[in-house]
Amino acid sequence: MRISEDVELLELTELKWHAIIQNDATSDGTFFYAVKTTGIFCRPSCKSKPPNRENIAIFPNALAAERANFRACKRCKPTGQRLPDEEWIKRITDYIDNHFVDTITLGKLADIAHGSPFHLHRTFKRISGVTPSAYINQLRIAAAKTKLIETDLTISLIGESVGMANTPYFITMFKKMTGYTPAQYRLNHFKEVK
Ligand SMILES: [Zn+2]
Repeated sequence: MRISEDVELLELTELKWHAIIQNDATSDGTFFYAVKTTGIFCRPSCKSKPPNRENIAIFPNALAAERANFRACKRCKPTGQRLPDEEWIKRITDYIDNHFVDTITLGKLADIAHGSPFHLHRTFKRISGVTPSAYINQLRIAAAKTKLIETDLTISLIGESVGMANTPYFITMFKKMTGYTPAQYRLNHFKEVK
């Protein structure tokens, strides 16, 4: 993320860096820090995972950070306003939609979304009706169904390609969600087509 020239930036001094890594609440209001890799900005006291020093930009106020196109962290609420839960969960599901073949843990999602794992799990379920892991499994099984029909990859390779490298787990989960094992599902499809 590039920050345009006309936005007011402060220098990342040792003092500010220490305030950030020590979550120093007494520095709140004196500056805000943004993380270029996530596009989120925080108060110094934010309990989120410490960012890499080279990715930080320092702003004198929340408005300057917003003008530079950073969005307020949901956890420390640097503008005093809350991101609506629906919008927060939408961002998380967007992330999952694009990354479901990778390893995604609740902790990783919580880090990305700047929330606690517990709060994320509960809010996700309340808004989308399923838990994050159930949502991830739905996407994985749907992608596996397509691959079973459209490719002749082995069952274990298909499992791996949709993020389920543990083949027995993949088969169990597939059967639980579709009523068939992956091999049966493939066979049934080609019987029907004949
Ligand atoms: Zn924060």
